[in-house]
Amino acid sequence: MLNQGSPLKHLNTFALSAYASHVISANSIEELINAWRESISKHKPVLLLGEGSNVLFIENYSGTVLLNRIKGITSTEDDAAWHLHVGAGENWHQLVCYSLQNNMPGLENLALIPGCVGSAPIQNIGAYGVELQKVCEYVDLLDMDKGTVLRLSAEDCQFGYRDSIFKHQYGDGFAIVAVGIKLMKSWTPTLGYGDLTRMDPSNVTAQDIFNSVCAMRRSKLPDPTVTGNAGSFFKNPVVDAAIAEDIVKRYPNTPHYLQPDGSVKLAAGWLIDQCALKGYQIGGAAVHQQQALVLINLAEATGQDVLGLASYIRQQVAKKFSIWLEPEVRFIASNGEVNAVERLS
Ligand code: NAP
Repeated sequence: MLNQGSPLKHLNTFALSAYASHVISANSIEELINAWRESISKHKPVLLLGEGSNVLFIENYSGTVLLNRIKGITSTEDDAAWHLHVGAGENWHQLVCYSLQNNMPGLENLALIPGCVGSAPIQNIGAYGVELQKVCEYVDLLDMDKGTVLRLSAEDCQFGYRDSIFKHQYGDGFAIVAVGIKLMKSWTPTLGYGDLTRMDPSNVTAQDIFNSVCAMRRSKLPDPTVTGNAGSFFKNPVVDAAIAEDIVKRYPNTPHYLQPDGSVKLAAGWLIDQCALKGYQIGGAAVHQQQALVLINLAEATGQDVLGLASYIRQQVAKKFSIWLEPEVRFIASNGEVNAVERLS
């Protein structure tokens, strides 16, 4: 890519060497609005970024990257719950640690997820059986054109699997400035996944779960501060029961999870692994050896290397299982986000 403007390498966890024409850091609502209005008046596109943990820069970005760095955590409580009001620019994992240090359980399954608090509702982050929607009380959203903040209840956020209203109606022109988290005092552990299934629900503590989740993640997932990556690259496909049945008939070991609506979730990482793609490399991009769902920046990968690799993976999985994987990572081109599936087709 042409070397121009401000580097983004340290602002995306994939550590891709892309550039934007400007990068501005905003510590308050006023600074967000001012930066937004100035860019718009110059007819420049604006990309809001937290810690860049779920983006793939496929080209240099022609506009302003606006970093949401609004900080602050306040907490109140009533008989039933603790209520945290958290600035969008706070680091997610630090929030998990803060809540546990203050004896407020509920976020332990979501430990070590990279990124900041303001990004969490956009993708309804989830891990080890808990999604943000379980603990989200509200989201404060800034309309940058109008300069007003509206508060959305969790229901208003229309949370789905790695999805929310912030990827649709409240995408462009809006910024999440704070998230309200509600942690119930009547805590019950969520122990349905991996090593957690071996824990005793009658005496397990939130700290035990936190420790186990951290250990599982560290053993399987590359640390983005060491090896560039954006976590799970693809979503787990949710398919009709008949399709899943057919795959399980052909491959009896297929992990499959029945969903409340009768559809079946398959594990994208397992499908990729069955195509013998662990370690497969294109240019500087590779499939992670421990978890095939994660693509890594092995050696100065470019956005195009990652695109090529993702496209190859999709084709191989489709050839074997007739399933087209969809990226979870958001693709950013020169003027803003583009449809990731279209770019890979
Ligand atoms: P894993 O245990 O190898 O399992 C593979 C997939 O099967 C998971 O992605 C999970 O789907 C599903 N799964 C496993 N046990 C399940 C159960 N008891 N009920 C329903 N579904 C089940 O997964 P992993 O890669 O080590 O990841 C563990 C957790 O961390 C998962 O929840 C995963 O989503 C999350 N994670 C997310 C990211 C990200 O970037 N978004 C990155 C790493 C890990 P779900 O993904 O739908 O839970």
